[in-house]
Amino acid sequence: MALSPSETNRLLQSINHSPKKKLGQNFLIDGNIVHKSLRMAENPEIREVIEIGPGLGTLSRVLLEQGFTVHAVEIDKTLSEFLKHDLHSWIEQKAFRLTEGDAVKHPLGSLSQDTEEFMIIANLPYAISSAWMEAMLATQQLPKRMVLMLQKEAVDRLWAKLGTKAFHALSIFLRSSFSQTDTHRVPRQCFHPQPIVDSILVRMDRLSEPFLFSKEARDLIRRLFTQRRKQIGSLAKKESEEIREKMFQWLTNENICSSSRPEQIDVSSWQSLALQIR
Ligand code: SAM
Repeated sequence: MALSPSETNRLLQSINHSPKKKLGQNFLIDGNIVHKSLRMAENPEIREVIEIGPGLGTLSRVLLEQGFTVHAVEIDKTLSEFLKHDLHSWIEQKAFRLTEGDAVKHPLGSLSQDTEEFMIIANLPYAISSAWMEAMLATQQLPKRMVLMLQKEAVDRLWAKLGTKAFHALSIFLRSSFSQTDTHRVPRQCFHPQPIVDSILVRMDRLSEPFLFSKEARDLIRRLFTQRRKQIGSLAKKESEEIREKMFQWLTNENICSSSRPEQIDVSSWQSLALQIR
């Protein structure tokens, strides 16, 4: 169960820790939201969960009590020392597997490479939401389901619509592998300390046939979006001869006007480009 604000404060004082803003340390203090996350994640076939940023272990404890194996990644040394002490019996049973480090470098924690059916449930630190998502997608080992607590701004960025200013390379990669299947608004009062904006719990389910982009394709698309105001035809001319030729062939095949901007080109056309350059 989640701790109240005063219990959270007492616990933080007892381990001599002040929440760090730059690590997005806004701890969940509402048990209903913890259980809502679990209900949204419900899938009896999956027993392995990745949790990014377990913090004081509020969500981890409930997951462990429900019989999940939890692969957690925590960057803060004070918090990971606390977790190692507080959850030691789960660690001994190998149910709680803590990776101490940066989730962008270890997007799937200690999960074994041959695990196919797993979920990610996390109250994601705001500063790494895009970088972690990008790193997770790059592993090509995709979870069956994700239930992520995100600030509204991060949701708008990740799920940006075609033709909008926010539509970028990551929106293409994410939309090619996942669909957004449920959302739940979470008021800022559910966290301690209170963030300045509300959050949203978002459930994303892996598509039945996710499209995976090769590293070359991801690098190219990202590069094209760094100059998003330029026309795709002029951007193609800046690429190597081999890529340039493939891009012009792609523009013809997909019937894309060379004066289009990257944000106006739809996800399936980007997938066709990826097939040509992989
Ligand atoms: N899960 C806890 C909860 O819901 O109360 C804490 C969530 S808090 C929003 C984010 C957590 O992510 C913090 O524990 C923070 O230290 C951790 N964190 C921040 N940046 C991280 C990173 N790059 N890698 C791993 N953990 C990170």
